Amino acid sequence: MSEDVRLCTIIGSGPAGYTAAIYAARAGLKPLLYTGKEPGGQLMITNDVENYPGYPDGIMGPQMMEDFKKQAQRFDTDIKSEMITEVDLSGPIHYLTSETGEKIATHTVIISTGASAKWLGLESETKLMNKGVSACAVCDGFFYRGKEVIVVGGGDTAAEEATYLAKLCPTVHLLVRRDEMRASKIMQKRVLNTTNLQVHWNTETVEVLGEEEVTGAKVKNNKTGEESVIDAKGFFVAIGHKPNTQIFSNWLDMNEAGYLITGADSTTTKVGGVFASGDAQDHVYRQAVTAAGTGCMAALDAERYLAAKEII
Ligand code: NDP
Repeated sequence: MSEDVRLCTIIGSGPAGYTAAIYAARAGLKPLLYTGKEPGGQLMITNDVENYPGYPDGIMGPQMMEDFKKQAQRFDTDIKSEMITEVDLSGPIHYLTSETGEKIATHTVIISTGASAKWLGLESETKLMNKGVSACAVCDGFFYRGKEVIVVGGGDTAAEEATYLAKLCPTVHLLVRRDEMRASKIMQKRVLNTTNLQVHWNTETVEVLGEEEVTGAKVKNNKTGEESVIDAKGFFVAIGHKPNTQIFSNWLDMNEAGYLITGADSTTTKVGGVFASGDAQDHVYRQAVTAAGTGCMAALDAERYLAAKEII
């Protein structure tokens, strides 16, 4: 008996995954979508989304992902609330193994596994998540207009987030744990030239302060050991993201941070029939709308691949 081979399997359920599903389903590819362990992706930990076109009054992140899911289901996407734990991309037909041990054979795979923000790992940070603690200035900065905020990190992300917030907030405190920043020279220059951006060198967070919402942070100078309190309403953690791409490391090219490498102007990877979209491959823009855009591209690329191979 010949095995049942899916036309298209999507891994991940953020804006990229669901958009890929909507396009693939409407193209008749009967997609199967695995949601992964964080169904809905990073938007599930976001409050109001006000920069996604089409929602003039904004929308809560979890509600938006529910709408994406409904739209994908309307076109008969088969959704499984499971993780894919292993892949075998060695042959023309690709094999995926789910956490329950089920093996899926598929002609095309769309990877939309996203990236997860790194956190400091403090109990107070977890407690105040979405109550002033955020990992996305572009998403949440607007709510802190006119208020003092703290940004943690010394890389390009922290530099970018801090300069973005400095346009909205009277004072931005940037906490850098060493006496230098890892960020590119041009970004460092921008930070140092922003007058309302105050860099606190050699500074670590001891505790995020506040009960119902953030009121500031207790910080420590790791050279002198001196502790102090910085008052702020927002606490932005910008110490990097980790793309969820570990299961592909034996099969696909990725950069040193783990972001999947795709062909120019496409979502192709080095394996035929395997496409990458969203934050798993984009370390530059990382927005819901750009992830949705590349999800659409991946579905169109998958459809063209199947047509070129005369599978559809
Ligand atoms: P990076 O890994 O480059 O930087 C992380 C920063 O966070 C470092 O300064 C690191 O400190 C600090 N850090 C890590 N852990 C902690 C901690 N527990 N407490 C305090 N500080 C901590 O991540 P980015 O997200 O900034 O950048 C990732 C990649 O994306 C880079 O290649 C970057 O260039 C790129 N990027 C490019 C942009 C652009 O071109 N516009 C925008 C954003 C990112 P330390 O240096 O001491 O390790």
